[in-house]
Amino acid sequence: MAETETIFTKIIRGEIPAAKVYEDEHTLAFLDIAPLARGHTLVIPKRPAKLVQDMTPEDQGHLFHAVGEVARKVQKATGAPSTTIAVNNGPEAGQEVPHVHVHVIPRTEGDGAGPIHALRWPRPDVSREELPRIAEEIRNA
Ligand code: 5GP
Repeated sequence: MAETETIFTKIIRGEIPAAKVYEDEHTLAFLDIAPLARGHTLVIPKRPAKLVQDMTPEDQGHLFHAVGEVARKVQKATGAPSTTIAVNNGPEAGQEVPHVHVHVIPRTEGDGAGPIHALRWPRPDVSREELPRIAEEIRNA
């Protein structure tokens, strides 16, 4: 299997079925097979890339445009007033399929799921005084 070949490239080519909800020239969106909520959708670029930063700026733009379209449609169809939009960007972040995919997860009040900040508790020990130096390291990277 080529490095860029994944279950998602097979879905793009129609070799395995998926419940598609949106498609344009550059992106495809379909329901997650193991949803965290009714209407949980994955939005993927048709051109394979493992990480967000591996994508061309144009593909990044197309993808985020599609994410907006899908979020609007998912919220309208499910009646959810909000969505969590998230990317597991690399295996250490929980990425199982090495083809960029944006999760669009319908959210309702009291649904029991937390915000992104629930990812890590207790919080790591990073003081406010350190923020300028960390920002400089990132700017210079
Ligand atoms: P990750 O953990 O990589 O961010 O998310 C991968 C997602 O892909 C998971 O939520 C998983 O349920 C979904 N998934 C894995 N295989 C398939 C598949 O064959 N079809 C669909 N529709 N979703 C899949």
